[in-house]
Amino acid sequence: MNPEDITTVKSLLSQPQKIAIIPHKNPDGDAMGAALAVYAFLKDKGHEANVISPNDYPKFLKWMPGNDDVVNFERENQKAQQLLQEANLIFTLDFNDLSRVGQMETALKEASADFIMIDHHQQPGDYAKVTYSDVSMSSTCEMVYNFIDFLGETDNITKAIATNLYTGIMTDTGSFKYRSTSSKTHRVVAELIDKGAENMEIHQHVFDTNSPSRLHLLGVALSNMVILSEYRTAYITLTQDELDAHDYKKGDTEGFVNYGLTLENIVFALIFIENREEGIIKISLRSVGDFSVNEFARAHFNGGGHTNAAGGRSDLSMDETVARFQEILTNYKSELNP
Ligand code: 5GP
Ligand code: MN
Repeated sequence: MNPEDITTVKSLLSQPQKIAIIPHKNPDGDAMGAALAVYAFLKDKGHEANVISPNDYPKFLKWMPGNDDVVNFERENQKAQQLLQEANLIFTLDFNDLSRVGQMETALKEASADFIMIDHHQQPGDYAKVTYSDVSMSSTCEMVYNFIDFLGETDNITKAIATNLYTGIMTDTGSFKYRSTSSKTHRVVAELIDKGAENMEIHQHVFDTNSPSRLHLLGVALSNMVILSEYRTAYITLTQDELDAHDYKKGDTEGFVNYGLTLENIVFALIFIENREEGIIKISLRSVGDFSVNEFARAHFNGGGHTNAAGGRSDLSMDETVARFQEILTNYKSELNP
């Protein structure tokens, strides 16, 4: 953050404000961690703050401090709309384009509040009065720690704030192993542990809550995996029928896409998941090395994200989507085999 923006934020927060805090649609650990940390921080400072989630999120995140206060835009629409209209400040966290909030987009565009964006994705939009964007960061949660540091307020990091920030850094770094995990990330995480984040409990809350049906669904996903060795690519499909047969709940497919990358010589992994209700195939893309799934998702599947992790969607059927993908892939043979 540049010094001018820090001054602007300090001045915006110098008196009690009505503040809405927004994670992206289908929020993950980083989005919810950042939102709930900012929420606790602002409330402690005497602001009237609310986290408004565009839609529901997985059960493995619902233990986080402040979770019970989250307003769900889909379920509590009137309340959410009112909070957005009344807000004079809106934080958008872990996304950088208003299209990433789904149905909430119109309400955000009509809001009269000043926006503060904190985000680590590529190609940020320009809707915010203060944009703190850094694609080198491991996570938005690491940036929220920096944000509090820029304000000179790390002494005010409570156990609740530390727990939320730890959760987001942990989930977005694949438990501190992705390339964006820096020595600074580890220093921040160490600080968070000193401030009360209970690392072992947090790992258990997020990762050790499997249901038998989810593990069986993972079995289906792994046996559906197609390996295209000449493209160093592996992809998984899951149809709505397969999800339904395994009592699918939001978040159950989290992490499935990563299995493809554990294969030797595979650098590009995808999962195609049918969502009959929305009439789309949701696509998650991952890579190791220089192959940019952000560019790939942007160019072909109406999505984006980071170089090594991105998402997108297709409005075609599963079979058509996969056929189209395989055709597109033929243009990437040399890029995938440098
Ligand atoms: P996931 O595959 O876990 O849903 O998302 C991977 C990364 O890509 C995350 O950083 C997420 O924010 C981003 N992402 C997921 N879906 C989309 C999308 O539809 N558009 C854009 N721009 N980014 C996405
Ligand atoms: Mn993130």
